[in-house]
Amino acid sequence: MNSGKQIFAIVEHAGNSVKPVSFEVLHAARVLADQMGGQVLAVYLGGQSESEIDCQSFIQYGADRVLVLKNPQLARYMALTHLDALQSAIESRQPEVVLLAASTHGKEIAAGLSARLKTGLATDCVSLDFVSGEGLKVSRPVNAGKAISTLIYESTRPQIATLRANVFRGPGPDASRAGEVECLEVEIAEKSLAVRVRDIARETGKSLDISEARIVVSGGLGMQNAGNFKLLEDLAQVLGAAVGASRPVVDDGWRQYSNQVGQTGRTVSPDLYIACGISGAVQHLAGMSSSKCIVAINKDPHAPIFSVADYGIVGDVLEVLPLLTQEFRKILQA
Ligand code: FAD
Repeated sequence: MNSGKQIFAIVEHAGNSVKPVSFEVLHAARVLADQMGGQVLAVYLGGQSESEIDCQSFIQYGADRVLVLKNPQLARYMALTHLDALQSAIESRQPEVVLLAASTHGKEIAAGLSARLKTGLATDCVSLDFVSGEGLKVSRPVNAGKAISTLIYESTRPQIATLRANVFRGPGPDASRAGEVECLEVEIAEKSLAVRVRDIARETGKSLDISEARIVVSGGLGMQNAGNFKLLEDLAQVLGAAVGASRPVVDDGWRQYSNQVGQTGRTVSPDLYIACGISGAVQHLAGMSSSKCIVAINKDPHAPIFSVADYGIVGDVLEVLPLLTQEFRKILQA
């Protein structure tokens, strides 16, 4: 099949578990395909056959077809092997657009594809549109989130974009949708196996990933010490939230790097971001200013965080947090 109006939506997964952001990528691809009059091809790379993968869910979220690229070497994410498999699928099917999640893996693969295929890449996009005669038009935050740049691609194809999580949520699965599934055994060149993953050590505990959580409660130096993060964990537990942190908190070893929000940390776009004892430096705002609702708790009424906050509480975070947790617990239990 070779359609100029095909959109590849790359499905990211860990083992058998599909990352929620992949359903957003599928939804965004569907909307774009409807604008372009094109088709969405969900592309899943792994070691399993199609019968072991929930391909129907990709169709229900917007795919017209599912392409499973199968090889035991694709069972675990490795940039070189995944790049090889995707590059050859793109070269043979020539999609107009390739969409991936703006996750660590998605960004790595997108950059590799862009370099190998000598085509344009826009990362961390927050909107996508199809403009007749021009192709894909995307927008993405720049200058630490202070401005939005709008880009179109030159004539090279495919147009590659990575999408920020929690921005492209759709209406959910549509059980009436139907589509085809194709499984292709792919070859991986020996040179791409130069690096092998022997084992993956997972962090202990069941904390939510901050870039996927719908609510993030973050702490800064105003939390005063690592022990006080227990107050944030209590609130996070009541709200079903993930705990984030500013960079100095991570540098001081109070929280792990995976918790860091900002320019040199993770980018989050939750429905609700609660910034506790965080001043609101531009490098922190770069990672959270696209959150849908921002609440700031700070004892300094002039803290810059209040300029981006929808709601502000001027007060001592160590006093406010237990009260908030108590009130939310009461409301949510009622
Ligand atoms: P502070 O700026 O010290 O702010 C602490 C805040 O807590 C203050 O506003 C204070 O009023 C308030 N406070 C104190 N006590 C209380 C209390 N009891 N109750 C309520 N409020 C209280 N930072 C990031 O966060 N993420 C990044 O990715 C990042 N990347 C960077 C990259 C570069 C290249 C550089 C140069 C810097 C980067 N930074 C980043 C650091 C950034 O510039 C700030 O230094 C940092 O965000 C400040 O962290 P903070 O708000 O926790 O601390």
